Amino acid sequence: MNNKVPHAGTVLRNFVGGEFITSKKLFNNINPVDGTVINQVAEADEAIVDLAVKAASGAAHAWKNMPMAQRCALLHKVADGIEARFDEFVAAEMADTGKSFFQARTIDIPRGAANFRAFADMVKSQSTECFHTDTPDGKGALNYAVDKPLGVVAVIAPWNLPLLLLTWKLAPAMAAGNVIVAKPSEETPGTATLLAEVMKEAGIPDGVFNLIHGFGQNSAGEFLTKHKQVDAITFTGESSTGSAIQRAAADGVKGLSFELGGKNAGIIFEDCDFEEAVAGSARSVFTNGGQVCLCTERLYVHRSIFDKFVTALKGKAQAIKIGWPLDEDTDMGPLISHKQRDKVLSYYQSAIDDGATVVTGGGIPIFGDARDNGAFVQPTIFTGLSEDCNIVKNEVFGPVVHIQPFDTEEEAIAMANDTDYGLAATIWTTNLQRAHRVAGQMEVGIVWVNSWYLRDLRTPFGGMKLSGVGREGGSHSLSFYSEPTNICIKL
Ligand code: NAD
Repeated sequence: MNNKVPHAGTVLRNFVGGEFITSKKLFNNINPVDGTVINQVAEADEAIVDLAVKAASGAAHAWKNMPMAQRCALLHKVADGIEARFDEFVAAEMADTGKSFFQARTIDIPRGAANFRAFADMVKSQSTECFHTDTPDGKGALNYAVDKPLGVVAVIAPWNLPLLLLTWKLAPAMAAGNVIVAKPSEETPGTATLLAEVMKEAGIPDGVFNLIHGFGQNSAGEFLTKHKQVDAITFTGESSTGSAIQRAAADGVKGLSFELGGKNAGIIFEDCDFEEAVAGSARSVFTNGGQVCLCTERLYVHRSIFDKFVTALKGKAQAIKIGWPLDEDTDMGPLISHKQRDKVLSYYQSAIDDGATVVTGGGIPIFGDARDNGAFVQPTIFTGLSEDCNIVKNEVFGPVVHIQPFDTEEEAIAMANDTDYGLAATIWTTNLQRAHRVAGQMEVGIVWVNSWYLRDLRTPFGGMKLSGVGREGGSHSLSFYSEPTNICIKL
């Protein structure tokens, strides 16, 4: 693989109306593996955000009226373009996040490309409603709905799966005929900038896709969500940011789609396939250093197998190879930033202060090389806390889990549901009746039984309570990005 980081040492620019433009204010893009500066990023000010929204608005009419087959063919070209520059995308994603070569090349980048193909194909088979209505004259009326795009959609993405989560929104929004102003996380501007280049190379008309860089509050994110000409906002990130965006969007009564935080539970019943439950739980806790919104941070294990399970999961945690992203055997990289590491370590400390038993981890690994300047933490397991402790209640977003024993099914369900979040849950059991019974009682958007993160892109994806508003995936995404108009024809 060519692992040269694209645009290393240069300035990543905003992409507005088909042109790359810089700005007066630059900020550093840091590699979390060793703390080095990869490149600088041009922060979009209010005027640049305004230009981007106006460029999108100006391109809206032609894009929505382009024949669907032509629009979808262009989105296929975008997918082809990502694949043609695959190594560059992998290198940029690894540099920005520190995630492993294995993960970037098998999940992040291929799925980023796949999102464009999937939604370009799905939109062609999206149907609308049609009703025949009786009328007093006996002739009747025909009602049918036509889908129209919303207009200018603001897409705001987080840093944990930068290209994958950005394209998960862009692809259905563009397929449905919307024009875009996208803002990646300030922590991960690399692959989004490459994507802007690919959009241009693929022939996406100028203004249909615009990219702005910057932060949230009092920066590009806030300028975008408050902009009067933005018709809808789709956001993935923290629940507290979701509230801030909801307030910013209130005046314009904009459509909102939110994928927010989680505090996901896993329930391990005594009748589970033990080896599978341990291996699956290790994946669900530690994948991407725990920085996946679907990761499990609370495990409830039947008391009869509690000690055996804790020991087995400890073995898995201690076997995780933390290291350089390019090493083939690296399982886990750093957290995204020193700020995130400070947050995770403060949760570790609060667990210890609350009297937790540290089964493994609890601190930072020491390497004796440049990685000591990075943002690494140890995979960590705690036990022994009550359910009201800080680390059991709040999303940490790191490689950590608290394990609690339970005696009855009812008790496990009650503890799993006793949270302000409602994103995902995992159940491990070989009892079919129990699987259905418990799954149906989970107050979440997604339940996995005997698996985790097994995704079919057509299924509804999203959360309840603090975890989100609306659903993405297949026709759910397409219906958010479309506005139906009912047409009533008197016959
Ligand atoms: P974040 O909320 O800090 O930032 C996300 C994005 O919002 C960034 O681009 C940021 O610049 C922008 N932003 C921040 N404040 C803003 C404001 N006031 N106005 C407009 N934009 C603003 O989230 P993060 O730290 O990047 O990501 C981690 C969080 O994302 C976790 O809580 C995780 O659970 C959540 N997440 C959820 C899902 C899901 O599908 N439910 C998926 C991935 C991540």
